[in-house]
Amino acid sequence: MGAISITGLARSFKGTVAVDAVDLEIADGEFCVLLGPSGCGKTTLLRMLAGLLEPTAGAIAIDGVDITDRPSKDRDIAMVFQSYALYPHLSVYRNLEFPLTQAHKHTGVTLDKAQRRARIEEVAAALDIGHLLDRLPKALSGGQRQRVAVGRALVREPKAFLMDEPLSNLDAALRTQTRQELSALHQRLGATFVYVTHDQVEAMTMATKIVVLNKGRIEQVGTPLDVYDRPASTFVATFIGSPAMNLLPARITDIDGVVRLIGADFAADLWDGRVDEFEALIGARPEHMRVLGHGERGDIELAIQVASVEQLGHETIVYGKAADADVCVRGARTGDIRVGDIVRVGLDLAHLHIFDAATGR
Ligand code: ADP
Ligand code: MG
Repeated sequence: MGAISITGLARSFKGTVAVDAVDLEIADGEFCVLLGPSGCGKTTLLRMLAGLLEPTAGAIAIDGVDITDRPSKDRDIAMVFQSYALYPHLSVYRNLEFPLTQAHKHTGVTLDKAQRRARIEEVAAALDIGHLLDRLPKALSGGQRQRVAVGRALVREPKAFLMDEPLSNLDAALRTQTRQELSALHQRLGATFVYVTHDQVEAMTMATKIVVLNKGRIEQVGTPLDVYDRPASTFVATFIGSPAMNLLPARITDIDGVVRLIGADFAADLWDGRVDEFEALIGARPEHMRVLGHGERGDIELAIQVASVEQLGHETIVYGKAADADVCVRGARTGDIRVGDIVRVGLDLAHLHIFDAATGR
């Protein structure tokens, strides 16, 4: 079991608030990704979970037991460091054995040689690295090294694994492969993972739960599709998804009982029932906008001047400006849009997100 419960957790550094009153429940077996831009407090939060950094306020419990004041080694939580944390002069076997030569955290007992071998073989089988035990780290691929690093944590049977940007040193191809390996590993182990990244693709592909952080605070918690389909704020809307969601300034207003949405060069009747007058930002993902052909209509139509065109082979991405707003449209491959063209772009009310421009929510 490894359910983690965080309440009012905070940490400041000489007046700088790095983590600000975070409340979070992570269920046993979850792959929880802490996602946010550099400096938003991800590492600080993770280090407090690991017991490597003392909170300024708040509490952490695992399976209902408060561990806030426990030293790191008594927490049953393993921090998986990046692959370079392996001992380069020791074989994979010795690397895995090393943690087992320390006395067990609760019983104080050290395993004998045969017991250590049994445990290492069990873990190596689970990680599919049994055939690599005699090798030195330098004779392994990046993905294999990653698995050995996980194995080093796993031999101690922790309740949760913590990882801080473990893929950031890998090239793109290896990152994709290791992402898949980590997902498979999580499924096989059924253990709780808490994983820090600034990369939304890693979060979307691996998480069962995404926690979006901004300036030390939680912006939104949800499944990957929750945060993609129903972003709680313009921050989440533009941080997740690439190219980013379009945000068009508009005014929501009630004219003779009809709620209308009015932008620089568009207007539409709005059906979602919001009646307060306010300045809004209309969010629309690039894949929900389309360049309109002759005679085609959208609930909202914009004229955009094309600034650049990206041909990706399977699709075409068009960037341009509508009035003062930057607009990006992605759609089926097309060859007949040129820089400088004025094209009509349509979007439908069903795919709109409406945010209050004053609060971003
Ligand atoms: P992230 O991992 O999301 O990039 P961090 O948790 O490393 O963010 O940092 C959050 C904030 O706390 C940043 O403003 C950073 O400069 C500050 N910070 C982190 N660690 C320290 C430290 N040891 N001393 C002073 N400031 C720190
Ligand atoms: Mg960090």
